[in-house]
Amino acid sequence: MSVIGVLLCGGSSQRMGFNKLTTPLGEFTALERSASLLAHTGCDRLVIAVTAETRPAAEALHLPVPVTLCDRGSTRGQSVLNALRAAQGQPGDIAVIHDAARCFQSPDAVRAAIDSAKENGSGVASLPMTDSVFDTDTQQPLDRSRLVRTQTPQAFRYEEILAAYEQAGDQNATDDAALYARFIGPVTFTPGCSTGYKLTTVEDWNFAGASCIRPRTGTGFDTHVLGEGRKLILGGVEIPFEKGLIAHSDGDVLLHALMDALLGAASLGDIGHLFPDKDPQYESISSRILLREVARRLREQRFTVAHVDVTVIAQRPKLAPYFPQAIQNIAEDLGIQPDQVSLKATTTEGMNDEGRGLCISAQAIANLI
Ligand code: MG
Repeated sequence: MSVIGVLLCGGSSQRMGFNKLTTPLGEFTALERSASLLAHTGCDRLVIAVTAETRPAAEALHLPVPVTLCDRGSTRGQSVLNALRAAQGQPGDIAVIHDAARCFQSPDAVRAAIDSAKENGSGVASLPMTDSVFDTDTQQPLDRSRLVRTQTPQAFRYEEILAAYEQAGDQNATDDAALYARFIGPVTFTPGCSTGYKLTTVEDWNFAGASCIRPRTGTGFDTHVLGEGRKLILGGVEIPFEKGLIAHSDGDVLLHALMDALLGAASLGDIGHLFPDKDPQYESISSRILLREVARRLREQRFTVAHVDVTVIAQRPKLAPYFPQAIQNIAEDLGIQPDQVSLKATTTEGMNDEGRGLCISAQAIANLI
């Protein structure tokens, strides 16, 4: 006996305006999440019903079980029938039908449906009604204790659900349980999960996106020696002072620490590696240009800067008056709001090399989402 996962990717996402199954949602797409869910909860192989648009993403899946693709039908029911036929299952096999748009369904819900189908012939993930339900025609409340909301997965004996779909012909059904009840027998309901909701509206998508956020943090530190005949530039602001920071670039220690924090949060290395100080193209370059390049790389990796905080360690000059402009510069270069940037300054009360006026240092922390 084998357990066949039937994954439905036939939706056209018309309500979303983009392909909800193949657009990344956090680290993975809904298609990847749903396929992985079935492959890791007891399915021995998968059959995926796809559109022409979704097919390349399904072909690129890396799963620990074999995958067969088939074309979707003109209705959900036709897609299920296509997939069941393509599966070429044997009597006694179990078919686990799942909507790919329910990509956050819990593994326990899948296992419960499969176990029930093995024992009872069917296992349909469902939830009790927690809201009151009202019949607007009769103006009567319904007895919600007798009602459940069905989700997927819905698992059945392969030959029975195939027979139900073949008998249904052109009669479309909203789900597999309805056809099973009509043509085969009473359905056994198993516990679903509130996370098994179907990504249907843009609100669902935004809610799901928020739940996928994995905050990342990076720190950065830099020091440059103060010397005569150099401009002092911090946060992209030229600050009047008798000395400046000695470096291959403009020596903007504040932005250097900040860039290392940003790169660290994204695990993209450090500025010494990205912008080598042996490379003549970076000689005397404005560190703001480098910061914009770091921002571009973060966007490329789909990171968003949530907040950055930098402390500059200098005995002199007084830096606070220049910070509003530096905050503006950083916000502009990173494409964020000024209130997402914090700058602070401290002395070391005359101690250490900073306190003796030999150098200026900066330490930074960055949070990405
Ligand atoms: Mg530096």
